Amino acid sequence: MTAYDYDLFVIGGGSGGVRSARVAAALGKKVAIAEEYRYGGTCVIRGCVPKKLFVYASQYHEHFEDAAGFGWTVGESTFDWKKLIAAKDAEITRLEGLYKKGLSGANAEILDTRAELVDRHTVRLVNTGKTVTAKTIVIATGGTPNLHGALPGHDLCITSNEAFHLEELPRSIVIVGGGYIAVEFANIFHGLGVETTLVYRGAEILSRFDHDLRRGLHEAMVAKGIKIQCHDMLKSVAKGEDGLVVETLNNGTMNADVVMLAIGRVPNTHGLGLEAAGVETNAQGAIVVDDYSRTSVENIYALGDVTDRVQLTPVAIHEAMCFIETEYKNNPTKPDHDTIATAVFSQPEIGTVGLTEEEAGKRYNDVEVYRAQFRPMKATLSGRTEKMIMKLIVDAASRKVIGAHILGHDAGEMAQLLGITLKAGCTKDDFDRTMAVHPTAAEELVTMYAPSYKLKDGVRV
Ligand SMILES: Cc1cc2nc3c(=O)[nH]c(=O)nc-3n(C[C@H](O)[C@H](O)[C@H](O)COP(=O)(O)OP(=O)(O)OC[C@H]3O[C@@H](n4cnc5c(N)ncnc54)[C@H](O)[C@@H]3O)c2cc1C
Repeated sequence: MTAYDYDLFVIGGGSGGVRSARVAAALGKKVAIAEEYRYGGTCVIRGCVPKKLFVYASQYHEHFEDAAGFGWTVGESTFDWKKLIAAKDAEITRLEGLYKKGLSGANAEILDTRAELVDRHTVRLVNTGKTVTAKTIVIATGGTPNLHGALPGHDLCITSNEAFHLEELPRSIVIVGGGYIAVEFANIFHGLGVETTLVYRGAEILSRFDHDLRRGLHEAMVAKGIKIQCHDMLKSVAKGEDGLVVETLNNGTMNADVVMLAIGRVPNTHGLGLEAAGVETNAQGAIVVDDYSRTSVENIYALGDVTDRVQLTPVAIHEAMCFIETEYKNNPTKPDHDTIATAVFSQPEIGTVGLTEEEAGKRYNDVEVYRAQFRPMKATLSGRTEKMIMKLIVDAASRKVIGAHILGHDAGEMAQLLGITLKAGCTKDDFDRTMAVHPTAAEELVTMYAPSYKLKDGVRV
């Protein structure tokens, strides 16, 4: 029998990699994990966590304004970008430490180096050039922002990576993209007082979300003062006398201090030695895996963003836990990618789970749509004109709630709980017999008794 240096070698110290390494090591396996940048990966270092901290920071100016309606007089407020960055960096460093502590506590060997495959059992540690062998390998190298190489002046642009480390808060920013990262950053920068323009080539932002929420959010963002240019794209970015000159296809030229590209993410597979090991990738460079996250090579698994299934932290962690069950607990387990609750931390926020109205219309013959649009209680005294939208999508035949969509404060928090009800297969009748929590916005979810309209074979009747 061949003796390997390790039972498991994990490449990538992000959400999926750290979970795989820590749990396998805790089970007594001999484990090493390699990370080329910082432990915690995209989520902790330059994704979910710092992004959410920025979201909180960007909401204060509205809180100060709203306070007046409740009798408060708030003194003159100022914002210090450098202070925010320093506080955020300290928190990220703390979290990175916790990730490393969890790994070392479980006796996983922590390697601060890039790692590349040499063959199906051998990995080269790039810092030292040393090679090590492992019985099983997990590739969890994540993804990286698409740098839009075809755009003249793309090298003058930033991505979300750099947005977390800007020296100064820009006076103006153009953000390119219509996905959740573009939309969230547009709201963040606007909230911090930056003149913000969002340029998106599609017809409407957030194309995969329910149309009511997309439109509602678009209108709310425009009402706040964010400029949104759909059906448009950048032709070039160049250095001007005062910042950058941005030429667009349909809206002429504008100036901006910063241009941020948020046009998708590409899997981190370049130069990873996949060919040498025989690991297949698809046309986008994502690693092809079977239902159990196993690659085309039996002893090599891939999970998280590098497989381009669902690019979310909890999904990468879930895939890691399924890998552990499959490989180390003699319990082959397929990751469950069905009915994933998710949020967009825009302002107002989106929380969503299950099918959109459009998807439901395609899959089910008879669909009931329960829809409420109302002014949240806080807005009455604050004087804010925002509207909250709540929608339940119900399969009329089975009465099951197959989609739930919310636009408004705390929508993400609500989506987490709604996710449990949809996963459990709750019916509209279960919602109806649930007592409301009063006074809350969420009570609307259990008090929409009659459908607002129905879909018959996908057509509204
Ligand atoms: C701006 C932004 C906001 C986001 N917000 C959310 C959110 O709100 N909610 C949510 O669920 N998800 C969010 N995500 C997505 C989430 O961060 C990812 O889905 C998640 O981090 C994927 O985990 P992973 O383990 O697959 O990869 P990652 O976390 O990306 O980890 C991969 C790690 O591998 C390392 N690496 C790459 N190649 C090598 C190599 N050859 N050798 C050694 N190390 C290597 C990288 O440095 C990285 O640390 C966000 C992402 C971004 C960019």
